[in-house]
Amino acid sequence: MEDIKLFDVAVIGAGPAGLTAALYAARAGLKPVVFERISPGGQLAQTEHVENYPGYNVNTSGFDLAMIMADQAFSFGAKLVSEEVASLEDMGNMKVVRTAFGTYWTKAVIVATGARPKKLGLPLEDELTGKGISYCATCDGNFFRGKDVVVIGGGDTAAADAIYLSRICNKVYLVHRRDKLRATPIYHDRLKEVPNLEFCWNSVATSLLEENGRLSGIQLADVKTKAQRQINASAVFIAVGMAPNSEAFSSVLPLSPEGYVLTEGTAKTPVPGIFAAGDVRTTPLRQVVTAVADGALAAQAAAEYLDELADIESE
Ligand code: NAP
Repeated sequence: MEDIKLFDVAVIGAGPAGLTAALYAARAGLKPVVFERISPGGQLAQTEHVENYPGYNVNTSGFDLAMIMADQAFSFGAKLVSEEVASLEDMGNMKVVRTAFGTYWTKAVIVATGARPKKLGLPLEDELTGKGISYCATCDGNFFRGKDVVVIGGGDTAAADAIYLSRICNKVYLVHRRDKLRATPIYHDRLKEVPNLEFCWNSVATSLLEENGRLSGIQLADVKTKAQRQINASAVFIAVGMAPNSEAFSSVLPLSPEGYVLTEGTAKTPVPGIFAAGDVRTTPLRQVVTAVADGALAAQAAAEYLDELADIESE
């Protein structure tokens, strides 16, 4: 017979939002269980440096900061379940979390599954992923030491990736579909000072080039003149934004047209007992500092909800 487990609060996702929710829930006297499909840390664990987390030493890596957050949450009693959540059901006062390995019943849920990089949708993109196509410069940049590489995108991720790669690669082409970056202004000046960086403005990738099963370059088109240009490169780092990891919740939670979990005010979703925190929810800013604040608010809201539930159940 299947082993059914029962919890007070299940936190789904162990990035900064989920780990902070677990820390605050544990300190509020709850026994949080954190579901994580890979390893704790989320996008933070793949970030080279974090310069905008107040009070934090920028010489320590995002990975180290993530591990400190994880250790802190688990030291207060949060438990880790290394399983991917496949679905969530609302049974009124109880919620059901299902993974490939088990069924878990919980009174409250905090969804903190974050977001993942968007794809360009070009032919060969999937086939060449890991063979020259990458969505994580800090994970894969070292494989292309001394080579020519391309970064696609104009946001903070593309800017940070281009700067990171410029230090280890021969040349970096930064391809952006407009003539102005979306990235935070501080990055604009830094990018201008990078000697081995070439901006390819008003340019979109039209095809990925392959040789012997690996990426060999990229074909660009100028959006204004339609002029074509080929760049020979060993890697293309795609940084064109994020998509929320919300598919497992689409049958129980209302989502925005882009797939983000709709929240009322801070952490509440329209479903009583289910809360959302961090990049997966509708929010005007997605940063580590907003994710951890979200996690604290979600834990607080979950604790209040559980108190109210206990009052109702004791009547
Ligand atoms: P983003 O801010 O959404 O930027 C995505 C970029 O990709 C935009 O420049 C966009 O162009 C471009 N783009 C989108 N679809 C495209 C397509 N199909 N083809 C070509 N270009 C495309 O995403 P992000 O840079 O990943 O950042 C996500 C969030 O994380 C942001 O809130 C960001 O501030 C945060 N973040 C912060 C830091 C930091 O240093 N604090 C670092 C990384 C990320 P348009 O500009 O034309 O729309």
